[in-house]
Amino acid sequence: MPDSVDSDTSSSGLSDSDNSTFQRWRRTFSVITGLGVSPEQRNADLERYHSETCEKWKRELMNYSPAVIFMLKHLKLSGCDVSSKDIVCAPCDYTRAGGFSPEAGAVVLCQGRFFNKGHMEDTLVHELVHMYDHAKFKVDWNNLRHHACSEIRANSLSGDCRFGRELRRGFLAFSKQHQACVRRRAILSVRANAACPDDATAERAVNEVWESCFNDTRPFDEIY
Ligand SMILES: [Zn+2]
Repeated sequence: MPDSVDSDTSSSGLSDSDNSTFQRWRRTFSVITGLGVSPEQRNADLERYHSETCEKWKRELMNYSPAVIFMLKHLKLSGCDVSSKDIVCAPCDYTRAGGFSPEAGAVVLCQGRFFNKGHMEDTLVHELVHMYDHAKFKVDWNNLRHHACSEIRANSLSGDCRFGRELRRGFLAFSKQHQACVRRRAILSVRANAACPDDATAERAVNEVWESCFNDTRPFDEIY
């Protein structure tokens, strides 16, 4: 008998393999509806579902996403050989989709936070830009101007502001909307830095480095 959630399925008249498929479906739906399972069981099911989805998408993106493959290639050229163990799927207790830890040299993908694989792709490219900057430019993450610069680049070069793909196709005209999005998101991230005392300081840091960092599209300035 597969790992059934209740006991009335033996009367369904299905063969063992049908039964197992049936059970899987039922389980999938119960994760969504919460029907027929205890809250604890549902949370455990949901967490496992998030973890498996995150691992699956991560594997697919590392193997098939042109943007992720491109970043991994350039990280390697910069001395960072990133493997799948350096990109960690984990539950996050805050409202973010991902993070980069300079100490660990690793990227965290916040499982359960992604609307779809495209969203996870944008987040992963964003964090890999931070990793690239850290490897290539010796970023001091407590220096708000350094942090602001990497956020501007990561927001602009990933699909976070829905522009990365066009940029990678060679369209280099940045729209005003794209710039506003990159600036807004960069200010929010710098504001969250423990070394940042207030909103005005975050905004100032972003403004001070804007010109040079927004126009620095490395490594995407290379044709691929
Ligand atoms: Zn960031």
